[in-house]
Amino acid sequence: MTAANPPPAHAPAVNAGAMAGLVHRPPFHGRLLIDGAWADAADGATLERRSPAHGTVASIHARAGRADAARAIAAARRAADHGPWPRMKGAQRASVLRAVAERLLDRRQELARMETLETGKPLAQSLDEVGAAADLWHYAAALARNLHGDSYDTLGEQTLGVVLREPLGVVGIVTPWNFPLLIVSQKLPFALAAGCTAVVKPAEETSATTLMLGEILMNAGLPPGAVNILPGGGGAVGEVLAAHPDIDMLSFTGSTETGRKVAAASAQTLKKLSLELGGKNPQIVFADCDFEAAVDATVLGMHFNAGQCCNSGSRVLVQAAIAERFVVAVAERARQVRVGDPLDQGVQVGAITTQRQLDAILTHIEAARQAGARVVLGGGRMARPGLYVEPTVLAGVTPDMAIARQEVFGPMLAVLVFEDLDDAIDLANATLYGLSAAVWSRDFSTCLAAARRIKAGTVWVNTFLEGHAELPFGGYRRSGLGRELGRRAAEDYTQAKTLHMHLGARSHWYLPIHEGDTA
Ligand code: NAD
Repeated sequence: MTAANPPPAHAPAVNAGAMAGLVHRPPFHGRLLIDGAWADAADGATLERRSPAHGTVASIHARAGRADAARAIAAARRAADHGPWPRMKGAQRASVLRAVAERLLDRRQELARMETLETGKPLAQSLDEVGAAADLWHYAAALARNLHGDSYDTLGEQTLGVVLREPLGVVGIVTPWNFPLLIVSQKLPFALAAGCTAVVKPAEETSATTLMLGEILMNAGLPPGAVNILPGGGGAVGEVLAAHPDIDMLSFTGSTETGRKVAAASAQTLKKLSLELGGKNPQIVFADCDFEAAVDATVLGMHFNAGQCCNSGSRVLVQAAIAERFVVAVAERARQVRVGDPLDQGVQVGAITTQRQLDAILTHIEAARQAGARVVLGGGRMARPGLYVEPTVLAGVTPDMAIARQEVFGPMLAVLVFEDLDDAIDLANATLYGLSAAVWSRDFSTCLAAARRIKAGTVWVNTFLEGHAELPFGGYRRSGLGRELGRRAAEDYTQAKTLHMHLGARSHWYLPIHEGDTA
């Protein structure tokens, strides 16, 4: 997740049910996008997606299988090797990417509604995410015109070294269900900016907005085959993308467990890998912090996207002197968070996206309870239709408990207590993850000392969950490999070619032996 801001807090929930009309519109029908044409799956398979908040059918998609994946990869290969996209001027590619950004904004309401129905997230948040996605397409357009290599005129009078940046070729893109449009927009526009072509596999639960993006790409003038989209299963399509010799790079976002499988499947072809994986992100709250700001960010961190966020602030480490007061304040604030129908205005937390995820969250909470954690708030399923979990605060969590180390992906918070900076850093780094963290203190030295020692790809200082296209994003350790966004985001989809050029006569290495030469 990045660049997605939460809806404004503290407004009363109004219009409950007023958006109900949006639920009962006919379901979205998605087909596969292969070589510029929409198609059904070769074997006719389809999948139905129900809104996790309402239980109604949100969408029906063609479900790609291995034969479809083979066709899509062949189309992307042709488009990379012989098509116009990699050969266009940067300025031409930029103008297509900008057109995509504008069309995303034109269709903002429609995209947001679909995102909410498939994921269960609040409509206001989906609207923000469409805006953030459009911003990424704009940013990538700027990079498309700035991609350049390097030159070395320092190698002697007879040598000129030029380093070209060439598109890597065909990129496989595999995305998860928690931020469908936003995450594909962290990858695809940058791959396209570099002149690559792509085969995209969205999570099967949430394919609609990626398919709508496909429509937008075609209308914006992208050549056939440059982007192919395959809603389908991880085994059937994801694994094929990871293993296929015609995929030059795989950009994957998902769980650490699947990331490992993807890495293993890609090993045979030694393709380039970008992995954005899980996190167990600590917020470290020192006693001298702005108390209200830290409480608010902690409540945001545990609730944002119902906690189904790789950057979720599911762990808070609080200095002992304020720990008790802090837990009371967080629980009090969390009690007032508005959980409900994601289509209703003012709702801040919607449904859990899948039944499987809901079951996993409840299992984690129960295990924590059994291990001795104290349930200060929530702890169970909400008594209402749809997939809802009560916001849950667990105090008295100790470092040996699984809940202190494992990603839960639900609206919950584990509270741990520390004494001093060293103690806080030990706790913060005591997981195998390293995606993000936050430090809260009014003392800049404390913030900087902690930020330097935390093993994480992003450390927020006196803020949390903010994102900008300019800032690289990615994980240390089991949270991933590589970085997305930032000024090198398009360059990551290129490879270097060195031109080593000689000027003038070249002195010969082979020296003929002349008569009379002696050894
Ligand atoms: P997941 O790993 O189950 O699935 C992610 C994608 O991989 C889906 O499209 C799925 O179909 C596909 N997939 C499944 N098995 C595959 C296989 N064997 N080969 C190739 N592809 C396969 O993850 P999820 O449950 O959809 O998403 C939640 C996870 O994603 C969490 O762990 C979360 O932290 C992580 N995530 C990370 C980031 C990040 O940027 N670091 C962002 C969002 C989510």
